[in-house]
Amino acid sequence: MSKHYDLHAHSTASDGTLSPTQLMQRAHAAGVEVMALTDHDTLEGLHEARRAARALGLGFVPGVEISVTWERVTVHIVGLGVDPESEVLGSGLAGLREFRDWRAAEIGRRLARHGIEGAFEGALAYSNGRLISRTHFARFLVEKCHAPDLRAVFRRFLVNGKPGFVAGQWAELEDAVRWIREAGGQAVIAHPARYKVNRGKLRRLIGEFVEVGGEAIEVVSGSHSRGDYFTIAAHAHDFGLLASAGSDYHGPEHPWIELGRLPELPRGCKAIWQEWPATN
Ligand code: AMP
Ligand code: MN
Ligand code: MN
Ligand code: MN
Repeated sequence: MSKHYDLHAHSTASDGTLSPTQLMQRAHAAGVEVMALTDHDTLEGLHEARRAARALGLGFVPGVEISVTWERVTVHIVGLGVDPESEVLGSGLAGLREFRDWRAAEIGRRLARHGIEGAFEGALAYSNGRLISRTHFARFLVEKCHAPDLRAVFRRFLVNGKPGFVAGQWAELEDAVRWIREAGGQAVIAHPARYKVNRGKLRRLIGEFVEVGGEAIEVVSGSHSRGDYFTIAAHAHDFGLLASAGSDYHGPEHPWIELGRLPELPRGCKAIWQEWPATN
């Protein structure tokens, strides 16, 4: 039996609601044996998470989830096993956070024009002055009863074509993969079945990812259906990619995903952790 791995999750360093310590405690209690922290565009929570995991005897993988724009589609690339002190990765991510800060102010201005005042300040309060994401706007909009829940709020306000959506340019695919590799990590395409692209375009994305040095793809993800596991496992096989598994957990307020519940990888997948040394 392989250990229980969860290689994708968020803390309060980005848009999760548990601190890195609380996240590690909850993962351990849920039976996870090796846990990654992969906050959006920041390495901020990694030291705390590592300390907490050590104290629990839980395996830990330092990670990140990088926002990328590829052919006008936002794609997320997870880095696993990255050095939290890497200057190349650190400065690449700092550039993305600058864009995030500008975008947040712009989302606030657009929502104000739409009659919703104070959204920027509200989102900022939810972010505790750390990285600011659309999720923080979503929590504010739900609090102010503009929609019943996070999903509805995204649909009404925060996606392409809606009043609070701001298009932008995140990292280039090639740069994101390079930053991860230079930080000693492995690059993984996050939740590939979630992108709104057809099969041909997804395979083009995977092909380019492999060309620039990407090594793995999330086959099992909290945002994949059972059918997706097998579709993506077939792509992994065709492109010679390693398979990863991660919940994409954001906290107990997002009850549709819980820690410790990921199924095993489909047969025939080569797990990304297969060649890792003991993880801590
Ligand atoms: P950002 O990187 O700031 O654009 O925010 C993206 C984040 O918003 C994702 O990582 C998810 O956590 C969250 N998100 C995106 N779409 C939805 C949705 N439909 N429902 C709930 N959360 C979402
Ligand atoms: Mn998120
Ligand atoms: Mn993502
Ligand atoms: Mn994520």
